[in-house]
Formats: sequence, structure tokens, C-alpha cells
Amino acid sequence: MPPEVDPKIAHLSPDDIELLVACYYDKTNKVVDILEQFEIDVHPTQLRKLLPPSITDEHCPYCSGALYKERPARTEPSSLDCDLFCDKCGHREFAEYYSWKTCNCAACTERRRIEAKEEARLRQSHEEVVRSRAHYSFGHDRPSTPYTIYDFQITEAVYLLALMRASRAESLLALGTFSPNGIQDNITTSTDQTSLLLRELRDAGVIGVAAYQSPIEAFDLGDDDTLSYYIFKVHYETTFAPDEDTAAELLKEIEQAFRTKNWPHHWRFDGAEDLYDLWKKFALEESLQYLRYYLEERKLPYNPGPKTLQVLESALENFSTSQVVKMIWAAAKGAVDFMQRKGVSAKHAANTVPGAIQRYADRVLAEGWDYKGFERNYNMPRSMVVEILHDLALQLGSKGWSTSPNLESVSNQPLIDASE
Ligand SMILES: [Zn+2]
Ligand SMILES: [Zn+2]
Repeated sequence: MPPEVDPKIAHLSPDDIELLVACYYDKTNKVVDILEQFEIDVHPTQLRKLLPPSITDEHCPYCSGALYKERPARTEPSSLDCDLFCDKCGHREFAEYYSWKTCNCAACTERRRIEAKEEARLRQSHEEVVRSRAHYSFGHDRPSTPYTIYDFQITEAVYLLALMRASRAESLLALGTFSPNGIQDNITTSTDQTSLLLRELRDAGVIGVAAYQSPIEAFDLGDDDTLSYYIFKVHYETTFAPDEDTAAELLKEIEQAFRTKNWPHHWRFDGAEDLYDLWKKFALEESLQYLRYYLEERKLPYNPGPKTLQVLESALENFSTSQVVKMIWAAAKGAVDFMQRKGVSAKHAANTVPGAIQRYADRVLAEGWDYKGFERNYNMPRSMVVEILHDLALQLGSKGWSTSPNLESVSNQPLIDASE
């Protein structure tokens, strides 16, 4: 059924209307003259809208009714391409110029609803695939019986206690996310070390990535189908105990073993050496942390290479972190003096720091000076792992900072009075 004819031209026969259309598109005719000739009473700009749409040989995709095309204005080339519409169901196919518009006919609305539903279904099934792969690759099933202290290497025990203390979660099972160093958490002295710690505990099966609790954006499915995760976006969960109670008991047992020095048997073989290594490792990490702090404070670049690491490691063989930190401070201060006196670049000045630390250390040793170190800087609170290591595992407290790491101080002898 063709669209209804506008009442304002209802007095014209179909042949007259055809003629009217032809006259309109003949640009030599003035619109006012056309209006007069056909006795139409409208403003000249309204004439085009009265013209009946032309029928096309296309059909509506929904109801297969004929598609009509609106009449383009004879003056505007940009609107020459006009919308098609179905007179039966109201469906509209927009001209290219208006392709950003959406048709709101019942059929189109329903089609979009189905498409959105299908898209959501696909997205959800994709998410499920990613999560189940993530759980399989990076997570662990919770055990039906809790781990025992014998399932932990001594380093893992230190790391786990540090992580549990750093966790902001109330639960001992669901740990939530952890943040890069210094943002919210100070699990270790640096973001790199925190990443390593999380990875090590995950590999040991003590914690896992909580694939079903993590936001889907925390995972990345590469073009080659390899799945990876963002260390500081995923949620973690402990996987060493079936429930909160057994998890709490085990954590308490580990703390107690450290506190009383009543170590489980398997720690006694090389646990002391492992702790000594950990002490050295974090003495070096803390030294680097202060090196960075003192350099950045003086606008000098921090870019430690193998030489810096070697110098600090060797200094820590004879000196405490506290003393080494003071040497770093003196070397950084000397670098700034050098820069100002000689007019060298900040990079050049920073390069003198490792050599200066080495000379301080050699000199103090050669002269046998009583070299008093620094107190901790309140701008750099102890990381959780250092806190657990010094205060609990080594039972050294502030001596962990003020003595040079040494194996003799790492006692693995149980205390006579375990209640102390
Ligand atoms: Zn239709
Ligand atoms: Zn439509």
C-alpha cells in the first residue's frame, strides 16, 4: 500500500502529482510558479515535503514490503541520497550520509537485543575459558588437608609471613590484590623483589592466582594464544590450608618455630645458611634502596650496574647495612661537591659513587676506625619481609640493621626455655 498523499495535494490526480514532481526537479521552474500552477497553498520551502516518496524495487528485509525513497531537495547535492523506508512496518534504511542513525522499528530493536545477548554470551564464554585456563596455569586447588611446617622451606616461611602481614584482607584465604612497592604495600624493598616473592610463593603452591575473583582485565591472552597475568592486578588466595582455622594454626606454628628457635628438622640442615643468604640479599636491597634515595634527593641519576652491586655486596661482608648506608650518603654528597667544583654532568658525578663507597670501606678497614652507621631514615619504613626476617626469623631486632650479615649470628639452636 503506497503512503498516503498529503491533504495539501489531495486535490491532484495521480497524473498531476507525477507532473508536479517532474516540474519540481526541473530547476528552470520557480517554486512559486509551480505552487500557483498546481494550486498548492504552502510556503515554497515546504513543497518538497509534500511530494510523495518514490517507490523503489527494493524490499524490506523484515516484512518484504516495498521500500520507498524520500524525495531529495533539488538544490542540495549532499542530501541527494535519501533514506529508504518501509511503509508497512516502519523500518528505515538510512542513507549513507546518515548511517550513524539507528532505526528504532520493532524488528531492528529486537535484532539489536538478540545481537547484544549473543555478544554477551560469547564474551562470557570467552571469560570462562580464560579463567579456567588461568586457574589451571597460575592457581591451585585448595588442599583437603592443610600443609604442615615440613612443606615449607625456611625462605618460603619468611616470605609467607611477610605477605600475610602485608595483606590488607581480613581473610587468611582470599588475599585480594597487592600493589607495587610503596604504593600501598611494602612487602619487600622494591617492586621487582615483591614480584619475585609473589612468584616464588606461587611456584611453591603456597598461594595462587584467584582466577575467578580477579577482574578479567588482569589476564592477557596474546595473539599466539599464550595466557599471562598482571602481577599487581590479579587477586591472590592462599592455597596451603582448606579453611581459615587450619591456615591460622599453621601460620602460628611457623611463627612459634622462629620465635622459640625450635626449628623443624628439615630447616636444620641448611636453614641457617638460607636465612644468612636472605639477610645478605635484603641488606643489599636496602642499600640499593638508600642509594636511590640519596641520589634522587640530590637530583643525580640512579642506574646501578654490576659494579655498584659488587661494591655494595663486598662492603656488606665487613659492614652493617647501617654503616654501608652512611658510606652511600657520604659518596652521594661527595658526588654533588665534585659536580659543582668540576662542572661535570650529573651522570658523570653519579658514576663516581661506587668508587667512593669502595674507598670509604677500604679506608675504614685499613685504619680500624670505629665507624658509626646511620639510624634508619623515617622516610623509608622497613619492608615487611625485613621486619619478619630481622625481628622474627633471625631474632636480631635492630641488630639486623646494625651488624654485618654473618652466619654465626644465625643461630638454629633451640632456646633452653621455649616459653621465653
Ligand atoms: Zn517492513
Ligand atoms: Zn528497522
